Amino acid sequence: MHYFNTQKNKLICLLCGHYCELKEGQKGLCGVNQNYDNTIKNLVYGYPSALHVDPIEKKPLYHFLPASKVFSLGTIGCNFKCSFCQNWSLSQEKSLQDGEYFSPERIVSLALQNECRSIAYTYNEPTIFYPYAKDIALLAHAKGLKNIFVTNGFESTEVIDDMAGLIDAVNVDLKSFNPYYYQKVLGGNLELILENLKHFKRNGIWIEVTTLIVPTQNDSDEELGSIATFIAQVLGSSTPWHISAFHPAFKEMSLPRTPIETLQKAYTIAKKAGLHYVYIGNTHIENDTSCAACNAVLLQRSHFEVLSNNLHKGCCPKCQTKLEGVFDAH
Ligand code: SF4
Repeated sequence: MHYFNTQKNKLICLLCGHYCELKEGQKGLCGVNQNYDNTIKNLVYGYPSALHVDPIEKKPLYHFLPASKVFSLGTIGCNFKCSFCQNWSLSQEKSLQDGEYFSPERIVSLALQNECRSIAYTYNEPTIFYPYAKDIALLAHAKGLKNIFVTNGFESTEVIDDMAGLIDAVNVDLKSFNPYYYQKVLGGNLELILENLKHFKRNGIWIEVTTLIVPTQNDSDEELGSIATFIAQVLGSSTPWHISAFHPAFKEMSLPRTPIETLQKAYTIAKKAGLHYVYIGNTHIENDTSCAACNAVLLQRSHFEVLSNNLHKGCCPKCQTKLEGVFDAH
C-alpha cells in the first residue's frame, strides 16, 4: 500500500483514521510520522522502546495458540489521548531519542531465538508504526511466525486491507460505546472503530475484544450491554470479550480501581447478550475456557499460565464441538 497521498503542497498520511494533512516538516497527531522531503517519514522505524517475550495470554489472546510465547514490541506515540492510559509512559512520550537500531531481520531473529510462535505489535498503537510492523510481519510469515496487532481499532481502511493475509489476529480495545466520549475524551471515532471491527472480520483476521472498565466512565449497565450486544450480534457470539479492571493511572489518579462487583455485573450482562466466552482480566479471578455446547473445560488457566489444554484438533474432546480461534492441528 501507499502510506500517503499527495494533495497540493500537503501529504495525507494513510496510516490511521485521522488522515492527517501534513505540510513539509509537520508531524501528525501521533508525533511519529512526519512530512519529510515530500514523503512520510516514520520516525520510530527501527527504534522500539519496549521488547519483551510474553505469554500469548497476556496480550490478551485466549483463543490463539494457547500457552505459546509471543515476541512483543512497541514504540513511543499514540493517535489517541486517553486520560486513563495504562501504558502512558510509552504512548504519551514525545521525545524521539535515537536508541539502539533493531532491523526487521533482527526482530524476527530474536523472536525465533526466544522460541516464540508469533510477534505482537503492542504496548502503544501499532498502526502508527505500520511501515515497520509490516516489514517485520512479512519476514515473520516467511519464517512461519504469526503476527498480532493489539490495537485501539482506529486503523485506516487502507491499512486494514493491507493487513489481510499478513496480520493473523487482533485484540481490539473497544473502550466505550459513547460517540461523544470517543471523540472528546479519547480522540477517536466510535463509528469508524465499529466499521473496522467488521472489516477485520471480513479480512479473515481472528478478533478478540478488550474493554477496560473505568469507574464512572463506561461502566453503566446500558453501555456495557451495548458493547456486549454489538460483539455478539455483529462479530458473533463466539468472539471472546475480555473485560479488564482499571487501576489509577496517568491523569485518572483519583478514580478508584474497578470493583469486582462491576466486573461480575459486566460478565452477567455479556452472557445475557449471548457471548460464549467472557474473561475477566487484571484481577485474581481465573478464566478457564469451557465448551459452549457441553461445558467441558477445554483450557484451564491460572493467571497467564495454561495449566491444561484438553483440546483435540481444536475441538472439545467430549462432544467434538469446534472451539473458534487458531489452534494447533494435533
Ligand atoms: S498515523 Fe494517524 S495520527 Fe499519525 S500522522 Fe498518520 S494519520 Fe496522523
